[in-house]
Amino acid sequence: MTILVTGGAGYIGSHAVRALQKAGFAVVVLDNLVYGHLSNAETLAVPFVQGQVGDRQLLDQLLSGQHSSCGGERVRAVLHFAAYAYVGESMSDPARYYRNNLGDSLVLLESLVAEGRRRGEQPLPLVFSSTCATYGIPEVEQIPIREDCPQRPINPYGRSKWMLEQVLADFGAAYGLPSVIFRYFNAAGADPAGDLGEDHDPETHLIPLVLDAITGRRDNLCIFGNDYPTPDGTCIRDYIHVCDLADAHVLGLRKLLAEGGQHVYNLGTGHGASVQEVISVAQTVTGRLLQAHIAERRAGDPPILVAAAEKAAKELGWRPRYGELLTILEHAWTWHQRRFGKQ
Ligand code: UDP
Repeated sequence: MTILVTGGAGYIGSHAVRALQKAGFAVVVLDNLVYGHLSNAETLAVPFVQGQVGDRQLLDQLLSGQHSSCGGERVRAVLHFAAYAYVGESMSDPARYYRNNLGDSLVLLESLVAEGRRRGEQPLPLVFSSTCATYGIPEVEQIPIREDCPQRPINPYGRSKWMLEQVLADFGAAYGLPSVIFRYFNAAGADPAGDLGEDHDPETHLIPLVLDAITGRRDNLCIFGNDYPTPDGTCIRDYIHVCDLADAHVLGLRKLLAEGGQHVYNLGTGHGASVQEVISVAQTVTGRLLQAHIAERRAGDPPILVAAAEKAAKELGWRPRYGELLTILEHAWTWHQRRFGKQ
């Protein structure tokens, strides 16, 4: 059974491709390589097509199995990771985000409906990468955040994801498009094999920046605010191992293939760690000290984001394998040394 993975050359997408391969699925990756890496597709030895999710002709070819990369096999379902995900850039250039994350995705959804019709079937199922950024800045009493927490995104990135969630709900109601929406908390870590991991350019995420600063690849780490209403004053996030995210996608896909429907799940551990705690665990894992500087708060950072993750556990049987922050940092460190050299 062939699964199309958009954004499969990116950080989370590449780990999901590996999880699909291990679960016995055939995979085709579509990625425009704006932020993804061809080397990931090569590592995964997966059929790869460079292109846009908004290219309707290409999508029709891929879904119907007429594209040369598909080996004549029709696509059974799609995992949709392809998106731009820089919050700051989404504020300075929202058009780019709405065009890519929303407009191109709409083309994908239409092609899923059209391909289903051509087969005389329901639309092809979709697993969609959404984000806890759709919750905006939740009230303290709303933490841990449940899936029914009000969604009030505060930037174009979060809104582009939230809007597509609503489009999916409408496509489900009107055309019967089956979907699983996953709202990720803070994706982190790397495949324990050490050959896939986080490699953003520019890098904005805490854990790779901490490792960069510890190894001297960067001069400094700034802690964005230490006056938040948290025990040590720094922001708290729910760091979830990227392989655990990947596993959830296989479970979500299986659910859609078995019973269809429309489902929304948070993906997090249910436990938070502060910026200071991340730094401290990184120091333990690397055996090195890091001098971090306190800087101004970063605009739009909520003090605490922690998932209520029971729904995915109950309905999908999903249990994070690498729930410990220490394990996440160990795997990130192994990857970091392999990717950027031992410093
Ligand atoms: N953070 C920080 N310094 C950095 C990068 C991030 O203090 O150089 C903090 C950020 O304010 C947030 C947490 O680390 O509280 C996680 O940030 P990240 O960008 O990794 O993920 P986000 O939660 O924004 O999706």
